Amino acid sequence: MHKDIGSIVLTEEQIQAACERLGKRLTEDYKHTVPLCVGILKGSVLFMTDLIKKIDTHVEIDFMDVSSYHGGTESTGEVKILKDLSTSVEGRDVIIIEDILETGTTLNAIIDLLSYRKANSIEIVTLLDKPSRRKVAIEAKYVGEKIPDDFVVGYGLDYQEKYRNLPYIGLLKEEVYS
Ligand code: 5GP
Ligand code: MG
Ligand code: MG
Repeated sequence: MHKDIGSIVLTEEQIQAACERLGKRLTEDYKHTVPLCVGILKGSVLFMTDLIKKIDTHVEIDFMDVSSYHGGTESTGEVKILKDLSTSVEGRDVIIIEDILETGTTLNAIIDLLSYRKANSIEIVTLLDKPSRRKVAIEAKYVGEKIPDDFVVGYGLDYQEKYRNLPYIGLLKEEVYS
């Protein structure tokens, strides 16, 4: 275990089991269409690469990078597109792939945008869900694990851009923040 990690929230094995389980459901649900899997950078990259290997039907992939505008401490719900898709979503069945769903403001704005661009359907796959933090009414159809309201790192998730490369998800030791 990395020296800065105090405890593990999800082991590599638990993450792989979640990918397997979600991949099976997606294979079944999307067998009659070729969905566009949209990974939200940068946090979802590790999850996306493991998940799509468990989907046993044709998929296409693309990426988007967005940042939330924050007026003070509250998110305004608007997002700024830092990197847009290179694929048209019009008429497509879109699967948004996220690392973690917290307040829901980011995903809410992305869904609005993709709806405006006339996607045929939009569903969310998130590895982690913190339902206790939700501010907008948005739910993911596909959830890896529900977790309590703690700040987690690893497997794509960062603290000051670090720890994304850990193969598991954990909590940082208190001393790392100070
Ligand atoms: P929200 O759902 O609040 O719009 O934003 C979710 C985003 O906030 C995630 O994609 C992620 O980048 C970041 N985030 C939320 N909770 C955590 C957490 O516990 N750890 C880390 N590293 N990032 C988080
Ligand atoms: Mg994210
Ligand atoms: Mg981050």
